[in-house]
Amino acid sequence: MAARLDGKCTLVTGAGKGIGRETAKALIRCGSEVIAVSRTQSDLDSLSCECPNLRTICVDLSNWEATENALKDVGPIDLLVNNAAVAILQPFLEVTEEVFDKLFAINVKTAMHVSQIVARGLRARGVGGSIVNISSQASQCALRDHTVYCATKGALDMLTKMMALELGPYNIRTNAVNPTVVMTNMGRIGWSDPVKAGQMLSRIPLGRFAEVEEVVNAILFLLSDKSSMINGATLPVDGGFLAS
Ligand code: NDP
Repeated sequence: MAARLDGKCTLVTGAGKGIGRETAKALIRCGSEVIAVSRTQSDLDSLSCECPNLRTICVDLSNWEATENALKDVGPIDLLVNNAAVAILQPFLEVTEEVFDKLFAINVKTAMHVSQIVARGLRARGVGGSIVNISSQASQCALRDHTVYCATKGALDMLTKMMALELGPYNIRTNAVNPTVVMTNMGRIGWSDPVKAGQMLSRIPLGRFAEVEEVVNAILFLLSDKSSMINGATLPVDGGFLAS
């Protein structure tokens, strides 16, 4: 039975497209209020048309001050999905400072910053909560041309464990979901080439990429009380890639 999240308010970052967008829609179906945060207004407008009850905030989360301003009056939040990220591929010897800084700013810093804002609110209200960071199989396995992306996801896994350690005493659980390839816009950046896709598929015991819904189901589980003793976990949704 799907988890029910009635009476909860969930903030989802990167909710304009892909996994974040489908997560926001699934949360509405589970009874949660949803605050969808992303940086392209037209994506949020079309999401609002699909889900009229959802609230939207348009901000570039890599801008610390803009994020503080955008979220300061957001009201009580119980659950958080740190999903916003970008992937830019470069061979190790060609990695630029610009790409390194950009990916760490979006894939790691935003997750920490938004989590601080949400966790401070939970602590002040004296209520528990659940945070899910969207990591990747790339956090634990080197993938050609993914140096900076892999490094950011490795950092996100460790951030997840630190948050579990320091927020656990406030009954705020933090876990990560670590998917294999999902054919969203981001998935297509790395895996549209049939040769590369074939090589990756051959390393996944189930022999296929993940569907968005399969990632969303793992997120809903970790947000809900059905995972009430799980804290600091990195949950692969990878058909066995990391096990093999
Ligand atoms: P998409 O590129 O499809 O969507 C990412 C969303 O995040 C977009 O709406 C994007 O907005 C938003 N976003 C990016 N940067 C910012 C920012 N600075 N501020 C606010 N919003 C931002 O990605 P996916 O849905 O594929 O990925 C979602 C998560 O899943 C990511 O964390 C990714 O690393 C992870 N993941 C994805 C996999 C895959 O194969 N697709 C595999 C494993 C993990 P905009 O388009 O306007 O920039």
